[in-house]
Amino acid sequence: MSKLSKIYTSLIIIGAGPAGYTAAIYAARANLKTILITGSEPGGQLLNTNAIENWPGEYHNISGINLMNNMLKHVQKFPIHIINDTIINVNFIKRPFIMYGEKKNYSSDAVIIATGASPRYLNIPSETLYKSRGGISTCAICDGFFYKNKSVAIIGGGNSALEEALFLSNITKTIYIIHRKKKFTADKILISRIMEKVKLKKIILYMSYIVNEILGDHLGVTGIRINSLKNNILLNVFGIFIAIGHIPNSNIFLNQLETKNNFIQINKNNTEHHFQTQTSIPGIFAAGDVTDHIYRQAITASSSGCMAAIDAEKYISSLIR
Ligand code: FAD
Ligand code: NAP
Repeated sequence: MSKLSKIYTSLIIIGAGPAGYTAAIYAARANLKTILITGSEPGGQLLNTNAIENWPGEYHNISGINLMNNMLKHVQKFPIHIINDTIINVNFIKRPFIMYGEKKNYSSDAVIIATGASPRYLNIPSETLYKSRGGISTCAICDGFFYKNKSVAIIGGGNSALEEALFLSNITKTIYIIHRKKKFTADKILISRIMEKVKLKKIILYMSYIVNEILGDHLGVTGIRINSLKNNILLNVFGIFIAIGHIPNSNIFLNQLETKNNFIQINKNNTEHHFQTQTSIPGIFAAGDVTDHIYRQAITASSSGCMAAIDAEKYISSLIR
């Protein structure tokens, strides 16, 4: 494909979230010659949260940025080669495996895919328009400040939506949470905190409502039209935070590996090793949110990164024997 020269190593880890960083720590301690390729978001999804309450040991609530900086420093303690590049294509048919990056090309005996997930959008035409004009965000921590004392809407009913709402409630004027179901799917502790803010009229809930259209002018968003079975409502808002989940970053692997609803399938190994993180191709392992449609937590991503590194080490050793 590309004429760029290739960098060869034993193990390549694609992704710098909890799964990729944890895999790197374990790979380094197994003495594997390893390159970690960060992609465009070194640190991953956790950079979007200001208080993590469920990372064991960090009982005083660490921010996502600090936790991921600590993980990076932990990786940097070891001789892991960290490269800021994004993989745009792969060839897992050939051995060693080949990965084509935006800046360089790479080859390795084993690969750990830890590319995580990216925010899902509503995919309505007005959303596309105002994504470029302004007023639409998927990250309250990054963009909340722009809406100081203004009204905003949050779409979604999971943990992300409710966390975004709680964060914004200290910055913005009124927050409308628009959720398409009657009940939230978020953790109960977050729901209780939201209900406290509802009592104070800081947050207003629109349950069983869907977004019809986003309205605005040449400067950006000015409103949102929502409807339920009975009502059609126009809310004046200047920011819309879309928190409706994430889709796995698996596009570049779809024609090479077995996937289900775009999640990379693992536990595909029946040999004596029983590699739980192996994909449909021996030597290609995957970990974290790119494989996981159920748990999607930092700690489960880290745990599977650890497992993938242990599996990769055994696989690479078996090549040498
Ligand atoms: P990610 O964190 O998504 O990292 C993926 C990495 O892959 C990134 O570095 C990216 O740059 C890289 N990448 C992607 N594509 C490529 C490519 N083509 N080439 C090279 N690199 C690539 N979980 C908790 O346990 N507690 C929480 O409090 C919590 N809060 C959250 C708050 C928010 C707002 C969000 C969105 C999620 C939260 N989560 C939380 C979930 C948690 O962030 C994820 O489960 C976890 O980050 C998944 O880790 P990962 O390593 O699989 O992927
Ligand atoms: P999620 O749990 O998948 O929730 C997505 C929400 O968006 C659901 O309420 C869903 O409604 C709604 N939705 C999906 N598609 C929609 C659409 N097209 N239009 C309108 N609404 C739509 O996603 P998440 O909240 O981003 O959380 C992702 C993962 O990260 C979860 O595992 C979560 O536990 C984790 N996380 C954890 C924390 C924490 O531990 N504090 C914080 C944030 C995230 P339906 O129910 O109708 O599908």
